[in-house]
Amino acid sequence: MQAAKSQLVRMLDELGRITDEPGRLTRTFLSPAMRRANARVATWMRAAGLSVREDSTGNLVGRLEANCRAGSPDPAGGSETSGVRRPRPTKTLLLGSHLDTVRDAGKFDGALGVLLPIVALGELRRRGVALPFAVEVLGFSEEEGVRFASAYLGSKGFSGRLSAADLKLRDEQGVSVREAIQRWSALTPARFGRLEKRVEGNALHLQANHRRSNLMGYLEVHIEQGPVLENKQLAVGVVSAIAGQTRGRLTFRGRAGHAGTTPMELRRDALAGAAEFVLFVETSARAVPPLVATVGTVAVEPGAPNVIPGEVTLSLDVRHPRDDARDAALKLLLYAAGRIARRRKLGTTWSVTQDNPAVTCSAPLSAALTRSVVAVQGRSVELVSGAGHDAVVMSALTPVAMLFVRCRDGLSHHPDEFASRADLAVALRVVGDFLQRLAREQSS
Ligand SMILES: [Zn+2]
Repeated sequence: MQAAKSQLVRMLDELGRITDEPGRLTRTFLSPAMRRANARVATWMRAAGLSVREDSTGNLVGRLEANCRAGSPDPAGGSETSGVRRPRPTKTLLLGSHLDTVRDAGKFDGALGVLLPIVALGELRRRGVALPFAVEVLGFSEEEGVRFASAYLGSKGFSGRLSAADLKLRDEQGVSVREAIQRWSALTPARFGRLEKRVEGNALHLQANHRRSNLMGYLEVHIEQGPVLENKQLAVGVVSAIAGQTRGRLTFRGRAGHAGTTPMELRRDALAGAAEFVLFVETSARAVPPLVATVGTVAVEPGAPNVIPGEVTLSLDVRHPRDDARDAALKLLLYAAGRIARRRKLGTTWSVTQDNPAVTCSAPLSAALTRSVVAVQGRSVELVSGAGHDAVVMSALTPVAMLFVRCRDGLSHHPDEFASRADLAVALRVVGDFLQRLAREQSS
């Protein structure tokens, strides 16, 4: 395990140096660095005994077929007492995360969830442990939304959910997702057309890599990106749900005027109204955890020191692991905005820019993962992920589970992002235990 841990650290270091921008880590969807990263990770996959392919969306897929060692009981076969073998169809367990990064990123976010399963599978192979199911390690080509300002393009492509609207998105150079994919995979338009299929809602989808019925589930290992594990002094924890998220723009409209000549009682100050709202958001979210609500941007018009603010647009981001609670919280906040605006003779408008439902992790997979965490770490803890992950998209294809690994100061999306070698070793042992636990469950 010592060797496996060191190998994982070396791989994280090396992958963290493959970048599109000299001097800092930036690796975006289908970029030249992504090509080099996929090639490097592919060699590690092959060394661990996986066969490697890349799908049309640039996702790297390493596959280990189910295999039973000669002389051992056949875990996929029938009962030994009856002597009758009833072969079951081989299912596939998916493990993975994303290989793209934000700008000036750390080396753990995403990469850990791809490299750790490769090392864990290599370790099982060294110890002669065979699994009765196939395993695929997935390195998704896009999760962070940097190049096309839209997240999850990789996992959407893998699961057949890339929509016509997604394919039309353009990057800063004017290149569309469709063109980027065609160039990357050297696909002719005719071949691209054959990959697409028309489904309900008139949306174009790329063909999925798997049928739902062939899959056992998807496990994603990821740094926590928050402070909970650090506070609990635990290396790893099990994610119970990924919070749903509503994001939008709220505008307060008043009347701009001279800051020197307009008496206070005659003002309709949009920023004063917005300020009252910002504090209301904080107070009301604090009262009902695990709700989180954030005003992250404020744009003031006309924005001059000697002019009363006439119009203010702010961003509002509301997240909760339960959709009904998120909806109720959002209604309450918008109701309060209206009340504040009426009292101050302001107008308001609200527009939603993003709306993702919550994802509940699979109870059976999470239970098995929790048993593995307890076996390795002594106790486990349940966490809600406030950040979105590839598991959000994968949950439409198969049950999902997530293992969070403690990261220093809860810091991520930053070059100082850090997970300790000791914590990585715990996560490695948990994933190894989890794979063998599923194997035992399947054969019992
Ligand atoms: Zn990530």
